[in-house]
Amino acid sequence: MVTQVSAEIATVYRLFDGNLHHARCGRRLIVQGWSTEELHCYCLTCVESVWLPLSVLNE
Ligand SMILES: [Zn+2]
Repeated sequence: MVTQVSAEIATVYRLFDGNLHHARCGRRLIVQGWSTEELHCYCLTCVESVWLPLSVLNE
């Protein structure tokens, strides 16, 4: 479970405006919700869900 997450982190980056962007297409990710440990984002361009560990976002 955790090993899959590490691969997802590389597909997302955050700009100075604080919004998360999808590295593959450069588009802004839509936040769909979150669990106690992960944030669920969605890329409308790639039609793909992306899960991020909340610990990454607190950096
Ligand atoms: Zn995308």
